[in-house]
Amino acid sequence: MPEIETQEYRLNLILDGSLKNMEVVRTADELSRYHGCELVPTMGALHEGHASLIRAARRGNHRAGQADGAGTQDRGPRGGAPDRVNTSVVVSIFVNPTQFGPQEDLASYPRTLEADLQLCRDCGADAVFVPDDLTIYPEGAQSAASAALSLPLPPSATQPRLEDACRPAHFGGVCQVVKRLFELAAPRGAYFGEKDWQQFRVISQMVESSRRTELVIVPCPTVRDADGLAMSSRNRYLTEEAREHALGLVRALRAGSALLEAGEQLQAVQAKMAEVIAAHGLSLEYAVARDQESLLPPRNQSRVRLLIAAKLGKVRLIDNCEVGDRAIGG
Ligand code: AMP
Repeated sequence: MPEIETQEYRLNLILDGSLKNMEVVRTADELSRYHGCELVPTMGALHEGHASLIRAARRGNHRAGQADGAGTQDRGPRGGAPDRVNTSVVVSIFVNPTQFGPQEDLASYPRTLEADLQLCRDCGADAVFVPDDLTIYPEGAQSAASAALSLPLPPSATQPRLEDACRPAHFGGVCQVVKRLFELAAPRGAYFGEKDWQQFRVISQMVESSRRTELVIVPCPTVRDADGLAMSSRNRYLTEEAREHALGLVRALRAGSALLEAGEQLQAVQAKMAEVIAAHGLSLEYAVARDQESLLPPRNQSRVRLLIAAKLGKVRLIDNCEVGDRAIGG
């Protein structure tokens, strides 16, 4: 049975059950009723990190320009009183083929639709947009993947030599799908995790240069497990032993952050982070201190962010923090 039929069948089963107060929409037409929404774009396999974005969207944080729940008063639920802002929360779930490289894990990316819909409902989403490839890419996914390679990209997607260097086609695909989701949903706010800091900067710059002044991009803090590991859909691939290795990322961030706060030079900080990564049996892709806006080497006035990527076998892990961020523990 083709995947789409299976998915449709499952959706019908679920909709007959407990999700009656949340709509699952499949087409651009259906989604057009949610124009002006708060949008949370995801690839599914949802966890507490995603849940925090949905809750932030529910609170409509961007109206107060902060992500701590302020701005709640002028939010009304769908169908609320006419003098209140009436904005729905829409979560999109789409595993975007154009942002995966040929050697990456598109085929094995976790897909957990039933559980995802429950989580969205529990977090107060009004609708979940679950498009098929042709709804997002009417020209076909293959043509779209070629087009993504020549898309004009903002500087943060090409200059830092971080994710852009390690995953050359990635940000073309990300910008392409996010642009398309913005066209279809016409959101007023869109919520992204700081966990993917470079992605957040790329999308912010993309929106700034498009002069879509009505759209606010809202960053949401990274949600971590109790041991400090940043939550990720890919963590479910980690065995308990592998998790212990993966903790090298947050430990490297803690060590780097402490050294920078103590006034240590950048070179030494980066060397220390690389040393911690190696000590955890991880293969380092980068461990750097950068200006958190441009993602280029810091200048005197820069707010500095530490960014790390490393591999554990086939599993690729990333993490980052602002210097002095107490949320990474230690
Ligand atoms: P993904 O489904 O991995 O494409 O992620 C969808 C959104 O959730 C992106 O904006 C991610 O940055 C965000 N996200 C993923 N993991 C976390 C996390 N641990 N904390 C906060 N946001 C996250």
